[in-house]
Amino acid sequence: MDWGHKVEEVVIPPYQGRSIQIRRGQHLVLVDVDGKQVGDFVCFNAHDVGEWVSPVHMRASLASIRLKIGDFLYSNRRRPLMKLIRDTVGVHDFFFPACDYWRYKVDFGLEDHPNCHDNLMKALDGVIPVAMLPDPINWFMNNRMNGDGDYVISEPLSKPGDYVELEALDDLVVAIATCSQDMAPVNGMKVTRLRMEIFDPQS
Ligand SMILES: [Zn+2]
Repeated sequence: MDWGHKVEEVVIPPYQGRSIQIRRGQHLVLVDVDGKQVGDFVCFNAHDVGEWVSPVHMRASLASIRLKIGDFLYSNRRRPLMKLIRDTVGVHDFFFPACDYWRYKVDFGLEDHPNCHDNLMKALDGVIPVAMLPDPINWFMNNRMNGDGDYVISEPLSKPGDYVELEALDDLVVAIATCSQDMAPVNGMKVTRLRMEIFDPQS
């Protein structure tokens, strides 16, 4: 696939988070390098930390609980900040919170397990002054609602090299964590790397 000129590439190691700045018009490609790895994603207006991609507003604006090609990622001000251009998987989640200290403490009795909340806050530290982490989009998370309205979480459908491609509609700061959950099927019981690639389609 010819995406244009690659501006930057950032590998997110297992159990970590990374942030990246994206200018308006550039494309972000998020690659599931080894397959079956969820990426917890948050996105801010680079010029105003008070505006971020908001899953609850997305569900309202899209009137849907699934993401399709051409859909916008809407902000808490109901403005589209990104657009889904390509998607080789087709199943993602924008319902569940990032895993956090309390998830591992309350549900598993663990004090020191890595978690997406802290990894995302760390990735944003010094980049943009975030007081509270927004709810994430969980790319590649295989979370479906059954006919009774109950959630069923299974291993991601993503194979090595699968990806989503998003167009930035404003100047943005994005942070993504390789989800640290290794005790449930969310990541196929194994945490692996992801890769962010920024392309400039104009050059
Ligand atoms: Zn997580």
